[in-house]
Amino acid sequence: MNGTMMQGSLVLPSLLERAGKLFSKVEIVSRLPDKSLHRHTYGDFYRRARQLAEALQRAGLRRGDRVATLMWNHYAHLEAYFGVPASGGVLHTLNLRLHPDDLTYIVQHAEDRFLIVDDVLLPLFEQFKNRVSLERVFVVPLTGAPVPEGYENYEDFLATATGDFRYPDLDENEAAGMCYTSGTTGKPKGVVYSHRSLVLHSLASALVDTLAVSNRDTVLPVVPMFHANAWGVPFTATMVGAKQVFPGPHLDPVSLLDLFEAEGVTLTAGVPTIWLGIVQALEKEPDRWKLQPMRMAVGGSAAPEGLIRAMDRFGLRVVHAWGMTETTPLGTVSQVKATLRDWPEDRQYEIRAKQGLPVPLIEIRIVNDQGEAPWDGKTMGELQVRGPWVAASYYNRPESADSFTEDGWFRTGDVATIDPEGYMKITDRTKDLIKSGGEWISSVDLENALMGHPAVAEAAVFAVPHPKWQERPLAAVVLKAGASATEEELRAYLATKFAKWWLPDGFVFLDEIPRTSAGKFLKSSLRERFKNWVSEREGQGA
Ligand code: AMP
Repeated sequence: MNGTMMQGSLVLPSLLERAGKLFSKVEIVSRLPDKSLHRHTYGDFYRRARQLAEALQRAGLRRGDRVATLMWNHYAHLEAYFGVPASGGVLHTLNLRLHPDDLTYIVQHAEDRFLIVDDVLLPLFEQFKNRVSLERVFVVPLTGAPVPEGYENYEDFLATATGDFRYPDLDENEAAGMCYTSGTTGKPKGVVYSHRSLVLHSLASALVDTLAVSNRDTVLPVVPMFHANAWGVPFTATMVGAKQVFPGPHLDPVSLLDLFEAEGVTLTAGVPTIWLGIVQALEKEPDRWKLQPMRMAVGGSAAPEGLIRAMDRFGLRVVHAWGMTETTPLGTVSQVKATLRDWPEDRQYEIRAKQGLPVPLIEIRIVNDQGEAPWDGKTMGELQVRGPWVAASYYNRPESADSFTEDGWFRTGDVATIDPEGYMKITDRTKDLIKSGGEWISSVDLENALMGHPAVAEAAVFAVPHPKWQERPLAAVVLKAGASATEEELRAYLATKFAKWWLPDGFVFLDEIPRTSAGKFLKSSLRERFKNWVSEREGQGA
């Protein structure tokens, strides 16, 4: 027997329609390159997103055609988030931190037809423009300067719409968006999001036990809109009609804190590096900003426990989440269950520093050489996930089929444990694991602990080859400005928390840790640079 319910399609235009009809007066605020604020409303956004959809159709966009964006976080990018899928096209966000060679590969591989680009990013586009074949390029005049010869003005393009727009009859499984993973090895791989996956992901993200995004929030995604859809925040915030604030290209701690204060931000999202910078700014000038009680979704890399504690001291609550481009991205969120609320404070912090519980409709498991691992909080293995917003394949990449298991799970490449309460904890990336004498050492645990030391701004722990142990950990440390710590002090600090054989063989002090385009530690570069560290040290008679 079937249910007697309608077969409503889960498509993005229903979110856009709701936002336009119910929340037309709610504000959308964007910081422009010159730091001035651009303000408009959901009413303007609704009208302009539909204009974009109509203009694209008039320009000959066919169902499934890719429209690329090369843009910072701001109002026009939000228009593209909804206008492109509403036209039947596929929004393909390009990561502006990638090398022009990678961008060339990605635009060609995705067969992008049109591009919308910020005027301030034209110098980047011009580095690969002649290597790609885009039919039309629309420039968003963020600076107000005339659009250079040879390009079309985005505003003029919107003006080609007559207001007579009808949504195509979209199937919920049609492609709506696409994003390439910015992995540290191999060619970037494309993930294609369906309307259905984005709508379900928005619903799940808004839940009180996940990110709790509500109409009463003022939301500021620091995470770029070109990285895993800014974790879906713009879709979710639009669905609930929350005020949205976009930082444009200004992502330094002071600019962000100014914007949090001026616009009354209550929810934000970004990688730990951003928040480590914010904590330092707040510690330096604790009375400078009057902030609302804020929640900050932290993911992309592990949120160190020290960061969660430091934020709490300023009334800012870290919500630690894990996800990937392939998981749209929200997979797990670490909220303390009601049944654990009477656990001692230290244990609650320990839970909040884990990557968390799978969100509804997502399943997780740990698999190692012995098969599926028990949920004992100790046994490590590869984290595998499945659910309605988890990729089942990569776009046009049959050679990557081994990322998916025969029984329908996605192999994340992360190494994790799951405890008896169901909290998942990432211990490493498969390729970043340190295997010393056949035993695994978690680089993430060591670096998180190091980042809790008062003199340490950042730390990355990585494997160096060792003649006896195969591999040993080495720590690269960046000290806070004006702070000092010796190798012996740092080792003694770690010795209180870890078994002796886990302690790094050495500590190297650097000015900065190399990063990927997504702001994560680029450990492959550290491994390469220090690959002879053990033999060189022995050569020095150490
Ligand atoms: P991306 O697809 O660029 O978003 O990268 C996904 C990867 O980031 C995951 O496979 C993890 O290795 C890492 N990651 C994301 N969130 C976390 C987190 N909360 N803690 C540790 N690693 C994370």
